[in-house]
Amino acid sequence: MRVLEVASEAVPFAKTGGLADVAGALPEALARLGCEVTLVLPAYREALAKGLPIEPTGLEFEVPLGTRRPVARILRCRLPGSAVTTLLVANDEFFDRQALYGGAEDYPDNAQRFIFFSRAAIELACRQAAPFDIIHCHDWQTGLVPAYQKILYHAAPAVARARTVMTIHNMAYQGLFWHWDMLLTGLDWRYFNWQQMEFHQQLNLLKTGLVFADALTTVSPTYAREIQQAPGGRGLEGLLAARAATLSGIVNGIDTTAWNPATDPHIPRPYGEQDVGEGKYAARVALAARLGHAAPDARPLVAFVGRLAEQKGVDLVVELIGRMAGTGRAHFVVLGTGDPAAEESLRRVAAAFPGTVDVVIGFDEGLAHLVQAAADIVLVPSRFEPCGLTQLYAQRYGAIPVVRATGGLVDTVVDATPEAIREGRATGFTFGACEAGALVHAVERALDAHADRGLWLSFVATAMRQDWSWDTSAREYLRVFERSLAFPPTA
Ligand code: ADP
Repeated sequence: MRVLEVASEAVPFAKTGGLADVAGALPEALARLGCEVTLVLPAYREALAKGLPIEPTGLEFEVPLGTRRPVARILRCRLPGSAVTTLLVANDEFFDRQALYGGAEDYPDNAQRFIFFSRAAIELACRQAAPFDIIHCHDWQTGLVPAYQKILYHAAPAVARARTVMTIHNMAYQGLFWHWDMLLTGLDWRYFNWQQMEFHQQLNLLKTGLVFADALTTVSPTYAREIQQAPGGRGLEGLLAARAATLSGIVNGIDTTAWNPATDPHIPRPYGEQDVGEGKYAARVALAARLGHAAPDARPLVAFVGRLAEQKGVDLVVELIGRMAGTGRAHFVVLGTGDPAAEESLRRVAAAFPGTVDVVIGFDEGLAHLVQAAADIVLVPSRFEPCGLTQLYAQRYGAIPVVRATGGLVDTVVDATPEAIREGRATGFTFGACEAGALVHAVERALDAHADRGLWLSFVATAMRQDWSWDTSAREYLRVFERSLAFPPTA
């Protein structure tokens, strides 16, 4: 099966969030299952500056974009040991920038940038020798691709018979733009209606993908249900409910090579289930040094790693720390960057409890690994969470997640109820209400369990034994691809 993966970010080229982890790992996992996979990405400044073996292909072509025809230059990268060809779409006007999507504010021309990228991706597909069976798109940035395939490129031999699959990584980001941006798409105004590309007088690129793709997926079964209703569907719940028969929820895998405590270069002493105590203690010592402490204290370490956004429940973390730091029951470490107000409240709470609360503002992949290795408890109090990766990394590193029961967190963490403990299935602690009191209660339950050494070690062992590798998830994607090929394309 020939698969074209189109995404706006992928590890190791460029990353702002979980999408990059997925788009970086899924192509390889599909290739291991026998697919022939090509990945298409924008050639961001960040991607070109990483010293990766990226080379020119000599291929360049004009891309229709409203009244303009900017040029796409195609670069190629074959990562060592990889079976996936990565093609990068270069255009300095659009992609030679400091950030992927903008800073505190989105770039004002993001519609133009990703309409260009989507059109370039399908034009590129048309120039490949062999036809594709599947075109797999991710999030709003690539939402136009299924529409292009059906409307403008249905006669192009390389893509005409392909089925398009649209994966939703987060309904909160839909790519909503001014209606006049419709002119840039090159699609007829008749598609600008409430059943296709329009959303309350605006152009909605995610909706476009969800309407035109043959199959839809999202990143967990629970999120697949949540987005068919308000508020999870963010206004598109009706459309998603109507397309429920083609919508699957597939939990993300994790990169088990990069996130492996037995081989992780970011931690001082690699470990497995047998020597988890020693490994975590060494990580704790290294983390203490990194944070400017002479030595770690003996209290359990409660950590949060993630984007400082409302979605992630950072406000609950701040309140939890405010209420619990004074009790001396735990040491808190927060690593994150994002909302300036959240960064400020975290700095304030760290200043109020020196020696008990450490806050690192920034994006630091290596430190994220060290924190997961050092932590006993990892907090994921998200308001909503399509899948979530931090709770999966935590389990692999023998840290017990405390999560809000929403989206993918429901599908990947088994709450430590008496029954789950008895059956040896418990991997974490969950709470329901989106309020600090509920989080505090869940963390207290976790700390009580931590005090019972035997019980805690059994949680840690169960968590570390979970299989979050991509192979399982990739097999499910393959089933979706096969199923969509078995049916005629949606009209
Ligand atoms: P989302 O995609 O919504 O941000 P996920 O849990 O799916 O959330 O993925 C977040 C990814 O980004 C994880 O790999 C996490 O370790 C990483 N990450 C988030 N914030 C930071 C940070 N400040 N430093 C290092 N890694 C981070």
